[in-house]
Amino acid sequence: MIQVPLLDLKAQYAAIRDEVMPLIEDVCARQQFILGEHVRELEAELAAYSRCAFGIGVSSGTDALLLALMALGLGPGDEVVTSPFTFFATAGAIARVGARPVFCDIDPATFNLSPAAVRDFLERRCERRDGLLRNRITGGRVAALMPVHLYGQCADMGPLMELARAHGLRVIEDAAQAIGSEHLHGARAGSFGDVGCFSFFPSKNLGAFGDAGLCTANDADLAEHLRILRVHGGKPKYYHGFIGGNFRIDELQAAVLRVKLKHLDAWTEGRRRNAAWYDRAFAAAGLAGRLVPPRAVPGYRHIYNQYVIRVPRRDALRAFLAERGIGTEIYYPVPLHLQECFAYLGYRVGDLPESERAAAESLALPVYPELEAAQLEHVVATIAAFHA
Ligand SMILES: *Cc1c(COP(=O)(O)O)cnc(C)c1O
Repeated sequence: MIQVPLLDLKAQYAAIRDEVMPLIEDVCARQQFILGEHVRELEAELAAYSRCAFGIGVSSGTDALLLALMALGLGPGDEVVTSPFTFFATAGAIARVGARPVFCDIDPATFNLSPAAVRDFLERRCERRDGLLRNRITGGRVAALMPVHLYGQCADMGPLMELARAHGLRVIEDAAQAIGSEHLHGARAGSFGDVGCFSFFPSKNLGAFGDAGLCTANDADLAEHLRILRVHGGKPKYYHGFIGGNFRIDELQAAVLRVKLKHLDAWTEGRRRNAAWYDRAFAAAGLAGRLVPPRAVPGYRHIYNQYVIRVPRRDALRAFLAERGIGTEIYYPVPLHLQECFAYLGYRVGDLPESERAAAESLALPVYPELEAAQLEHVVATIAAFHA
């Protein structure tokens, strides 16, 4: 039987093996493993790629978020508005610096943070006191906004940035799934807010051979602060003006990522081609009424880190596909406001209905660029058989 894994990186590796192995050899021969030439070059290349002024390579996407929050001085007493429909790290990082995550609901069409929900929170549940924006219920200082560019499509950054400016909020973009994703007029993920945070976890569109990440910034002082906090807050070495951490990216990972970056646009085009093929095939198979394909916002460049459909009998469909060799995944089965570890925030079932509905209905299908026509056809035919 034809197999269609959710993601298979072996074909990608075969295509770059001859380029990447000599570079790994070279780094090993030089024994310069920490913050070397490949890191500096990668930072410059990724900043340019993301149309940002500065890039700071870090140890993971999670650490990029943590470092961004630390660099902006966010901590106890502060609140950060974000989406509950995202990977755990988004809100986990907020809580780890001692700040409080505030969840606003998503736009059901895009799965991204709804500007209307954020506006409602800022204008109806907060008030200005002594020049600070305070949450009326908790008394906390609402200090930052953390939109997520989920599945590889930019959040609605026009109105979100307008709200942030109007209310004096710092903006950290969780762009972990969105390298090269474009909003209107070619502006790229990571270039809107104070800091953009990227992940190079192997399953992201640009994946390392392990963990790695990046912060982007447009302000020179902030970029310098991120760099200093990356090495325990010491500058010069052993003189600590700040308490930072070890947030460094490996030289080996930087070397791998530089090779992969050259192929990224071709891989992204492959994902976009597969997504467009699914869109057409679902319509042609008469499945339009049975499932909702992902909405690509006109004028944006969706990079399809995931191709996520909505279906009513999601779990039954998932089991049916698994029995027929098709891998899928649920991103994410429990919205963050209902996670056990966030019970102290006081949210209840029903508080954020669109996020809860998305958690119950969404299913990610294989979309990686090396998929063959027969595999794509098998996915669509099997979904059609399920509904027949
Ligand atoms: C992958 C991911 C992260 C975390 O990145 P790591 O590199 O795995 O630490 C954060 N946020 C989102 C939305 C992600 O998808």
